[in-house]
This record gives sequence, structure tokens and C-alpha cells, in this order.
Amino acid sequence: MSISRLARSIPSSPTLALNEEARVLRERGEPVINMSVGEPRNKTPITAILSSAARLTGGEVKYTPADGTPSLKKAIIQYTEDNYGRLVAPENVIVSSGAKQSIFNILYSLINPQDEVVILAPYWVSYPEMVKMVYGIPVIVTPEDGTFIPKMHEIEEAVSSYTKAIIVNSPNNPSGMVFPPELIAAIVDFCERKKIFLIMDDIYHKLVFDGRHCPPAYEYTNKDVEDSMVIVVNGVSKLYGMTGFRIGWVVANRQLVEVMTNVQAQITSTPSAVLQSAAEGALTGMQGIVENLRLTFENNRNVIYQELNCFSDIRTIKPEGTFYVLPDFRAYSNDSVGLSQLLLHRALVVVVPGKEFGMEGFLRFSYSGTVKDITTAIERVKWALDPNSPNEIYIGDRKLIRDWL
Ligand code: PMP
Repeated sequence: MSISRLARSIPSSPTLALNEEARVLRERGEPVINMSVGEPRNKTPITAILSSAARLTGGEVKYTPADGTPSLKKAIIQYTEDNYGRLVAPENVIVSSGAKQSIFNILYSLINPQDEVVILAPYWVSYPEMVKMVYGIPVIVTPEDGTFIPKMHEIEEAVSSYTKAIIVNSPNNPSGMVFPPELIAAIVDFCERKKIFLIMDDIYHKLVFDGRHCPPAYEYTNKDVEDSMVIVVNGVSKLYGMTGFRIGWVVANRQLVEVMTNVQAQITSTPSAVLQSAAEGALTGMQGIVENLRLTFENNRNVIYQELNCFSDIRTIKPEGTFYVLPDFRAYSNDSVGLSQLLLHRALVVVVPGKEFGMEGFLRFSYSGTVKDITTAIERVKWALDPNSPNEIYIGDRKLIRDWL
């Protein structure tokens, strides 16, 4: 059997494998704490439920236009005006089945074989794989100063005549960092001058802490959306905790949106009519939910940052947004996959190995759960790794003794 070489080269996800192991343990009744999930734990906003229920009870669930329903696109245009200060046309907007599909669709529509895409480490695990899937070449920039924020000269050095696009994700998954406005301004200016597409993955743009503002890339270009190299990706997954609804969108110039629409029409025809109605309900409903989520995550960030700082050998850069933190565990091991396996099996805590994000020796914790989960998980991690911590612990109702350090 000869399966595509390219498809076979796409690695399996250690995260999924860890989650599967965690699921089996949980089914056996083990008190596993999952700090790996990348989603808010809130209930779906009621306006999203009502809007999708109305679509269902009306019995009119058919194909929609390939680029999304006019009414959802109208809501996205309003969102873009309110949050990005740009009035765009319906022809500048395309809705997809999740921001993940939006990003793949952008890359498929932009990249010729061997074109390069600059990706900034730590990066969301899917970017390099998606670039490879469209026969492009990911070029990774890793900040040399040990921070999670690249310097402009590092980005410039990674750019070649083959560079077609740069992907920026701020607030960042997995580091939680918000790129400084001067850096965004410099990247926008560079991309506009060099005619390199700038893909802004803004999926976490409202989840920022300490009174910060996440400046939209459009703020730093005078160019009209039609002439600008800026492409903005967003969606309802993190904004409203609607990960299961699978709706994302892109704002870009008409030509790109038209090509993306043709591509999407051949692959999925349209995003689901019911789920588009749900997204419209969320976007046009009460927005207090977004601020509630933000406040919860800011509080959780404070708790986890404080807990991690009690570790003597762990270096943690304080997250400025999202619901992730990426502490440096190299004092304990350089093998983040092995370390996350150890934490799962000894401490029943699921975390994602930093290797997946281009940061070997780091571990990503998601703090989208409860404060109790956070404090219990960190206590268990400390017990499993830190010889200075007490060597007995209760996990569930079992008393365990550490005998491996
Ligand atoms: N970009 C980033 C940085 C993400 O973390 C995620 C989801 N984990 C996505 C895009 C995809 O979001 P969606 O659920 O809308 O596909």
C-alpha cells in the first residue's frame, strides 16, 4: 500500500496520545487533572444557543453561500469595525469551520511549492505542519535571548526572497505573551514594504490581562484592506468558549477571499448553517461573557504564576494573556515528552510537552479550569519533581510516597 509521503510525514500529536492515556486512566476512576485542554470551560452563551435552535426549529438547514451567511458576515463586519477600527466589505470576509480551517485555507491559497513561511517560536503546533501540507517550508525564528518575544532583526534575518508570509499569534499560544505594540508596528511596516503577507492569528486578542490592550495590526498601516498585506484570523472558539461550534473567519483583501472561497467551496462547500447561526447569536448578543472569561483567566493566571514561583528551579515568564503558561523545566529534564509522561503516570496531571511548540524542556499548562484544579495540579507536580517538597501526598484518597528522587 503506498500512502502519500507527505501525509505520512505529518507526525501524530503527542497531545492527543496523552489525552487518550488520561481518558483511559479517568475511566478507571483515577483522579486525573487535565491541564492540557485549550478551551474555556464555560457554558455556551444563551444567545448562541437560541439562535442555532431557531435555525433548527425553522427546519431550514441547507447549504449557505460558500463564504458564509450574509447575516453572520454582517456581524463579523460590525465586529471588525468595533474592534479593529476598519470598515470592510462582505467581499473581505470569509467564514470557515474553525480558525484552524481558516489558517489552512489562507496557506493553501497563498503558498506555491517551496515558498517559505516565517513562524515565531514558541508557536502553535499546527502552523509548521499546515505549511508542510501545502508544500511550503516553515522557517522557525526562536528568540535568542530566552524570552518568548522575537527581535525584529531576528525576523528580518529569517526572511529570504522565498518568504511569502509571516504568522504572528499574539496573545500567544503557548507562551501567553502579548507582543509589544512597537514590535507589531515594525512587523507590519516590514511586511507592507517587502510585500510579505502578515497572517495575524488574533484568536486570543480579547484575553489580555493587567489592563493591556492588544493592538490590532491594522492600527499600524495606512493602507486600505485591499492594498494591505495584513490578514486577520479570528473565531468564536476562545472569544466565547465555543470550541465545539467550529466557526472561524478571515478578513483580507477581496482577491485572496475570492480564491479562498473557491478553495473552500471545493472542500467543505460551506460551514454548517446551524453553527453559523450560533456564531451570529454570540456576536450579536450580550458581550459580558467575554469580559467574564477574561477576568476568570486573569485570576487563574495570578494563582498559577504564584504557585509556579514556589518551585525553586522553575523559571516562569508571567503570561500577559490567553490561558496558557509555559514554564522552563530544564532544571529537571530536557526531555519534555518524558517529563509529561512522568507527570501523567506519577502525579495524574496532564500537561503538553514544550517540544510540540518548538520549546524543548518547557511544559505548557492550560489554566482554563478551576483554581482548585490549578493548586492541586501544581502541588502534585512539585511532589513528583522537587526533592525539597514533602515526599508524601494524597492523590484522591490514596496516600502516595515518592521513591524515585
Ligand atoms: N490558533 C491558535 C493559536 C489556537 O490556539 C487555536 C486553537 N487551539 C486555533 C488557532 C484554532 O481555533 P479553532 O478552534 O477556531 O479552529
